[in-house]
Amino acid sequence: MPELSSLIRPDIARMEAYTPVKPFEALSREMGRDPADLIKLDANENPYGPSPRALAALADYPWYHIYPDPQQTDLRAALADYVGVAADYILPGHGADELIDYLCRVLLQPGDVIINCPPTFGMYDFDARLSLGQVIDVPRNEDFSLDVAGVERAVEQAAGRAKILFLTSPNNPDGGLLPLADLERLLALPLLVVVDEAYIEFADAASAAPRVPATPNLAVLRTFSKWAGLAGLRLGYGILPLPLLEALWKFKQPYNVNVAATVAGLASLNDLSTLRTRIAQLKAERERLYDALAEIPWLHPLPSQANFVLSRVEGRSAGALHQQLFQKGVLVRYYDKPGLRNFIRISAGKPQQTDQLLKILRRL
Ligand SMILES: *Cc1c(COP(=O)(O)O)cnc(C)c1O
Repeated sequence: MPELSSLIRPDIARMEAYTPVKPFEALSREMGRDPADLIKLDANENPYGPSPRALAALADYPWYHIYPDPQQTDLRAALADYVGVAADYILPGHGADELIDYLCRVLLQPGDVIINCPPTFGMYDFDARLSLGQVIDVPRNEDFSLDVAGVERAVEQAAGRAKILFLTSPNNPDGGLLPLADLERLLALPLLVVVDEAYIEFADAASAAPRVPATPNLAVLRTFSKWAGLAGLRLGYGILPLPLLEALWKFKQPYNVNVAATVAGLASLNDLSTLRTRIAQLKAERERLYDALAEIPWLHPLPSQANFVLSRVEGRSAGALHQQLFQKGVLVRYYDKPGLRNFIRISAGKPQQTDQLLKILRRL
């Protein structure tokens, strides 16, 4: 028997260990606070939680001991109504994250390339590497807009090996939208263009999803995690070109979406007026947060179309600020890396949570 570690894929053995965020229930125990008292504004979750109908449907559902429908027929039909695209184009997943992984695994052969535009969501890079893909970064401009010509050059230099371009609209962490003209230009490239719309419900912009049937290389990813308050249940979906779906149907785990997520997702789509009211509240709160942050001399917030606001921190350390807020039970995300030097990202919360946060910030 060889050393077991020698059986592990070398690229995975070499991987840097992921530092998981501490679960907030453990955090609150450590801090001696009730979890409900923590002001959690670090992961863009929905502070209002699932819709009442989703909670009731979860409590009433009688068939948890039966395996899920691998085709997700009912959910796909409801999503088709919601998105305005036929169910044939829709594939639900265990969060949008699972679909990012699936796309990488179905499209990338070892050495193939994805084009990534940081600062952005971290999973594109992570999943591409797990699929033995190569990541070519085309950094965003200083105002977080895309370097479209840079992307075009990178695709050309990859000489046919570039398979996926990941775009995010609104982008995480800045909240900016992808201009339609940029998307148009990038769709002319010979690769799959994935538009991750995890936050589109908070934007004053149309989804690109309805364009999928008429656009051979466009894929759109959406999720219930943010607008519908189901982050913990893991439910996302892709609106995908048919040839890609054909491959994914063969490839995917039959029971990738669990029954609880399906039940909650269906009930959420049946409770849109409640959920849309909450979206409107969070958008209003985002604007109030932006205005208040702009009044603080050492913070420079960026306009956002998502449920969070990114701010550049000037003259003090974002990491230290994060720590000071943490000690008061307020969780925010901070960044200090190339392209994202000394920033904090704050999710839109309930009005009382924003008040609490602002009170602390103004005293610092
Ligand atoms: C939160 C987030 C996701 C994750 O979606 P899940 O459905 O929870 O996996 C995907 N993309 C972006 C840009 C996000 O910020």
